[in-house]
Formats: sequence, structure tokens, C-alpha cells
Amino acid sequence: MPGHHHGNIKDVTIIGFRAAKSMVELTCHILENATLLECLTLDAVYDNGIEEADRSCVNKSYKCSPLIGKRMIAQAHKGLWAIGRYVADKVPSTVKLNVKKLCERCHVME
Ligand SMILES: [Zn+2]
Repeated sequence: MPGHHHGNIKDVTIIGFRAAKSMVELTCHILENATLLECLTLDAVYDNGIEEADRSCVNKSYKCSPLIGKRMIAQAHKGLWAIGRYVADKVPSTVKLNVKKLCERCHVME
């Protein structure tokens, strides 16, 4: 969205964040242009509705549902890596970066 102004956006959520150049660029673009931004939420998993912030079923009687495939799990781990490597540094002190965790039981890399 070059040239587009996001001056009045306060809360941005990106679901299914991937370690792709376009994704990182979009996120940085929002951080640079949304001057009133207060909260940026990034979620590397697109699992359609796990609402718990830490997305963990550890010590519970169920598993995360729906389960995502191995390829998506690997992509999610790469996405989190990209957030730490390319996005975290760009977040101004006025913005709260909220990165949703992966489940320690269902989203481990094998
Ligand atoms: Zn789980």
C-alpha cells in the first residue's frame, strides 16, 4: 500500500505472519506510517480461532484444534524468527508488540 496513510490506525493484527519479504515490508510500512499505533499483534499461525493468548493446551485434556500441518508449523517457526530478526527492532517504544505464542505441545518442530 505505498502512499497510503494509516495515521488513524491504533490497533493492527496480522494473522498468518510469514517469513516473507513482502510480509516484513508491510509490517514495517505500518510501523512507519501509523503514527498513532498503540498495539501490533502478530500471529504466525492461521488456525482459525484459538483465542487463548498463549495458544497452549499443555496440561489440558485437549489438543489445539484444528491442528495445523507440519509445513504450517515450520512456517510459523520461521515467521516468529523473522519477527525477532526484522520487525522487533522497528517497533517504536510507544507501540506494544504482542506476538502470539505457538503451542508447546502441538506446534513443536520434529
Ligand atoms: Zn496445543
